[in-house]
Amino acid sequence: MGANPFDLTGRTAVVTGANTGIGQGIALALAEAGADIAAVGRSRADETAEKVRALGRRCELVSADLSSIEPVADVVDTVVDKLGRLDILVNNAGIIRREDALQFSEEDWDAVMDTNLKSLFFLCQAAARHMTQWAAQEGARGKIVNIASMLTFQGGIRVPSYTASKSGVGGLTKLLANEWAPLGINVNAIAPGYIATNNTAALQADETRNRQILERIPEQRWGDPADIGGAAVFLASRAADYVQGHILAVDGGWLAR
Ligand code: NDP
Repeated sequence: MGANPFDLTGRTAVVTGANTGIGQGIALALAEAGADIAAVGRSRADETAEKVRALGRRCELVSADLSSIEPVADVVDTVVDKLGRLDILVNNAGIIRREDALQFSEEDWDAVMDTNLKSLFFLCQAAARHMTQWAAQEGARGKIVNIASMLTFQGGIRVPSYTASKSGVGGLTKLLANEWAPLGINVNAIAPGYIATNNTAALQADETRNRQILERIPEQRWGDPADIGGAAVFLASRAADYVQGHILAVDGGWLAR
């Protein structure tokens, strides 16, 4: 690691849901900053791995369905086994279910909460147990970056479990920062605004909704996964050693309106 505080050379980063969208953008940005990557998810992240390797970094694929916490302990063990260490965890995997609150089913409630919040917490726990060992051995800080949402701050509509899960991600990020800062781990979150991914493709394709969205965003464009990647590099780097429990909106100014 050189004098550049954003340099991640020699660090290893786990990114969940790295096969596409924001997760892929984050994995590529971390790799550009020098980190080796473990791409964790249901679908194989072959395209991400190819791009990471083209940057001269290692990329290991780790298969895990995070709709339950069953694979969580194995994920961390596998990453450490394959890459030798784990310095950075980015909890990006997430799903959404849309329905009126009056009609919302228990199944959709559980599916979203289990993936977006429960697995996220237990991955943080498993990673932190490992990171504290490294901190003791070599003074390296652990970095956890959770992907929240504008709905960490706002209510939204017809997405009750998503809003609850992302509010939970915000609260949990602060709690974990309180508990783990003394252990040498930074825990922060990024709240993306409207980012162009498969997840938002239908909104982008709807001319009226698209116009309404763009009119409300001061930057007057959809965010790109690389915009979130830049914020992730900052929070994962030494430059953010004194940033704790923060939820960084990367939203083109949406919340400023
Ligand atoms: P995508 O739907 O494009 O990607 C979601 C990722 O999560 C995929 O890699 C997906 O894998 C993975 N994932 C979903 N369920 C599971 C599971 N059970 N186990 C493992 N991996 C899983 O979404 P985005 O890239 O848009 O979103 C990424 C994150 O950013 C999410 O947490 C989302 O809530 C958040 N976000 C996105 C915004 C946006 O505007 N796009 C705005 C605010 C927040 P697979 O392909 O295998 O399903």
